[in-house]
Amino acid sequence: MRRTAPATLLALILAGSLPAAALEGPAPAAPGTTAPAASGKPRVVIVATGGTIAGAGADAANSATYQAAKVPVDKLIAAVPAIAGVAEVRGEQAFQIASESFTNAQLIQLAKQVSALVKRDDVDGVVVTHGTDTVEETAYFLDLVVKTDKPIVMVASMRPSTAISADGALNLLDAVVVAGARDARAKGVLLTMNDEIQAGRDSTKRVNIKPSAFFSQWGPLGMVVEGKTYWFRAPVKRHGTTSEFDIDTIDALPDVAIVYGSGNMHPEPYTTAVAGGAKAIIHAGTGNGSVAGYLVDTLKDLRQKGVQIIRSSRVGDGFVLRNAEQPDDKYDWVVAHDLNPQKAKILAAVALTKTQDSKELQRIFWEY
Ligand code: GLU
Repeated sequence: MRRTAPATLLALILAGSLPAAALEGPAPAAPGTTAPAASGKPRVVIVATGGTIAGAGADAANSATYQAAKVPVDKLIAAVPAIAGVAEVRGEQAFQIASESFTNAQLIQLAKQVSALVKRDDVDGVVVTHGTDTVEETAYFLDLVVKTDKPIVMVASMRPSTAISADGALNLLDAVVVAGARDARAKGVLLTMNDEIQAGRDSTKRVNIKPSAFFSQWGPLGMVVEGKTYWFRAPVKRHGTTSEFDIDTIDALPDVAIVYGSGNMHPEPYTTAVAGGAKAIIHAGTGNGSVAGYLVDTLKDLRQKGVQIIRSSRVGDGFVLRNAEQPDDKYDWVVAHDLNPQKAKILAAVALTKTQDSKELQRIFWEY
């Protein structure tokens, strides 16, 4: 992050007439400043939901065997005294759960809570602590349905608070910095882990055992280092105030199922999901969202019955091309663009609260 100092600047520093800090800046774009408040600090609310960041192990050597969702939000905040130096912070305990147990009901409840907070004049930004397992889904859901430009920052950790080199404390401090930063506004829901600022829409858990667990194929938006934000790109997809979806008008989400593609498949995972109430199937296909020839009739039949068929990919990176591998126009199917199956599931559920039209659904998949 440092820039090379010109020889003359270096000479002045060596002579003692300039502080060594002159070597550091300025960066090409000014680092983020925080929003003004009476105290001069931004006001940030930390909404806690559980996860490893609130986890506790039997002893400090337990970095992977521990119980998630144990430490309450006030203790999480108190454990990071540096937070008081960067923001006026208070906590709200939404849930105390491991994130694999999130349901649609909890997604909706959390989004309504966050939506109410960002409408307040005395709140400059919101941090949501969360388990890493499904934080990518919750981040994308909030990105789609909370109508605000104020920063909403997801944060998690891979090691419990009781472990040696626990990553939660710095991640939480960084999240509060980002939530209070004026230059974090209007960038969609963010995820702060491992010094990186990721787009909530793009980031996904890629490693299940290391602190560098999250990854976006399009790269992080920026970094947060020693209390300052540094930005390198901004999202172009619709979110927040530019989204057509609003949690204030959503009280339920339709059921959407993911079926994972592989060789030697059977139709039952699709038909059983629909019998169980699924209104859309995310086909996590091989390669470019491919569908085995012997399954095509099953999916065509389900589409005839009104079920939306959305082709995503199990590959992880890249994006599914429409009318490649399968004639989507002819079959009236949708492609998930660059969304992985679990993100596609979130967008499909949100979109189906507004439309049942497959062409509208495809437009939404291109725009969000
Ligand atoms: N499975 C738990 C959860 O997602 C713990 C994993 C974590 O937070 O890293 O809440």
